[in-house]
Amino acid sequence: MDAFETTNIYFHRAADLLGLNERVRTLLLNPSREVKVSIPIEREDGTLAHFVGYRIQHNNARGPFKGGLRYHHQVNAEEVKGLASLMTWKTGVVDVPFGGAKGGIACHPQDLSEHDLEILTRRFVQQIHEFIGPTVDIPAPDVNTNAQIMAWIMDEYSRMKGYAPAVVTGKPLALGGSAGREDATGRGCAIVIENFFKSQGKTLKGLRFALQGFGNVGSHLAHFLDEKGALVIGVSDSHGGVMRGEGLDIPRLIEYQRREKTVVGFPQGNSISNEELLVMDCDCLAPAALGEVLTRENARHVKARVILEAANAPTTPEADEVFEKKGRVVIPDILANAGGVVVSYFEWVQNLQSFKWTLEQVVEELTRVMTKAYESVVNIATTKKVPLRTAAFALGVGRVAKAMTLRGL
Ligand code: GLU
Repeated sequence: MDAFETTNIYFHRAADLLGLNERVRTLLLNPSREVKVSIPIEREDGTLAHFVGYRIQHNNARGPFKGGLRYHHQVNAEEVKGLASLMTWKTGVVDVPFGGAKGGIACHPQDLSEHDLEILTRRFVQQIHEFIGPTVDIPAPDVNTNAQIMAWIMDEYSRMKGYAPAVVTGKPLALGGSAGREDATGRGCAIVIENFFKSQGKTLKGLRFALQGFGNVGSHLAHFLDEKGALVIGVSDSHGGVMRGEGLDIPRLIEYQRREKTVVGFPQGNSISNEELLVMDCDCLAPAALGEVLTRENARHVKARVILEAANAPTTPEADEVFEKKGRVVIPDILANAGGVVVSYFEWVQNLQSFKWTLEQVVEELTRVMTKAYESVVNIATTKKVPLRTAAFALGVGRVAKAMTLRGL
């Protein structure tokens, strides 16, 4: 089953709950536009390299298409399509006025020099510039992309069309980026999990977390959890992991990872594999890297009571079923990791108004939006007696369906 089919399983569950008819389902399911481009570049060493890039725009009934751009060797049309539709439901869940899109370039970014990455990004923008824009489609960072790459996108687009900072979010602060955008996804995850335990009469103090992934999402999530007194007892990245039962020293680990580009070999802890990390005895497991890491095989061995989906689509539908049977709570991606796109919305608003918000304003608004989304999802889950994922999809899909119906074909 590919990523798009997986997302659509959840879509249909929500559509059943909402009583949507076939006509509305057909309109909601099919992506509005799928762009696939060829990107030849001359590398720094003079050789020619060829890449394939995608931008898939799923739905824009509630506002311009919105979603990240990833640079990864596994990027393909089906995966991008699935991730694009997840963005449509995600922007619906947090009620920001955007639709959903996703894009990417199939490449090994770690094998490309800074020069090659810049050329690749600029060439990609030249190929897709007709399809993006501040009121059309607004890309953002995702797996292996960052503020520098967004800066090149903004610059290349602005050269062709005139100064347009709102064409992309997740930019550097010096170029119209927003305070609090870089750590927004991690901060949003922390707000959601804090709300979850609060509803059980608990604070995060002393609760044990295991995080898979220590990139832009995982490392910031670790920081916020540590700040709130939780114990981060295991973390991993694509090279391996590290654990310490009494809690890892997160500020030191962050420093170590910045220097070494991996958490492997961190002296104050024992090494652990990625598979071992997923089944660690802990209160909450947060997959914060790639999709489909929790499968039918390993789900049975997961000991965490709560799975916080900091990554997009980390749980396969088979694993989801195992978790449901075993009474594990899954806080779904389209709620858990929506903090990124929420602050992207704040960045876009600031760009359109040429006005800067303070970090305090961003955090206050983000907390309000995430808490409201969390409460709405829990409310649907409780009244309809469905898992949080079905409830979140029902909230997102319901909002998009309403907008589409009001606008007409
Ligand atoms: N890539 C992030 C996501 O998957 C952020 C998207 C955005 O800010 O547009 O939600």
